[in-house]
Amino acid sequence: MRDIPISTAPDRIFWDQVRVSFSTSRAWHGIRTVSNKVAWHGLVWHPKRIPKHAFCLWLALRGAHRTRDKLVAAGVLQSAMCAFHCGMPESSDHPFFQCPYSSKVWKEVLRMCNIVRPILPWADELEWMTAQTAGNKFHQTLRKLALAATIYHLWIEMNNRCFNNLFRPHQEIVRKVRQDVSGKLASGKSAQRCEQHHSLCVNWDIPLAEMM
Ligand SMILES: [Zn+2]
Repeated sequence: MRDIPISTAPDRIFWDQVRVSFSTSRAWHGIRTVSNKVAWHGLVWHPKRIPKHAFCLWLALRGAHRTRDKLVAAGVLQSAMCAFHCGMPESSDHPFFQCPYSSKVWKEVLRMCNIVRPILPWADELEWMTAQTAGNKFHQTLRKLALAATIYHLWIEMNNRCFNNLFRPHQEIVRKVRQDVSGKLASGKSAQRCEQHHSLCVNWDIPLAEMM
């Protein structure tokens, strides 16, 4: 028989190795399978993102929104016709931005970003946006926020039409997008005193007094 010394220090939990403290982040990285980084990673998960918008954009990029074509296939709905009443079936890509309603919204949002060009098919739109938003300069962040906010508010509108019988004109979606994006950027000070940024701040209702 011999005495076994018992420490009176409080118990501590370590992760993987002694003296490496546990965190949910370490646990998650310890158990997950890491895939290759996708080209559009920075378009969604940039530092200024609005979390619910980024999540909604991520679902759109993964084709994971429960659009009507999927609900019909699952036997939940009888008709896959677009919630914006354009007469076409609602597939994953249709609301972003092949539908006349959503293309009007996106065209107006692009114009506020001082971008004038035709609306592209979804895959090309993403490629264009990914290439034209690489970086964290004011106009690049603005474009990223604008895309995610547009996807989010279109998705909310589709759900409101489907489940709440609420119908808003496309100008109201544009107003919501402007409100969220300007609210996010008004608190930052990344705009510079140049003609390009000044014009964007005017378009988006971002207070000029906040500019550096
Ligand atoms: Zn439509």
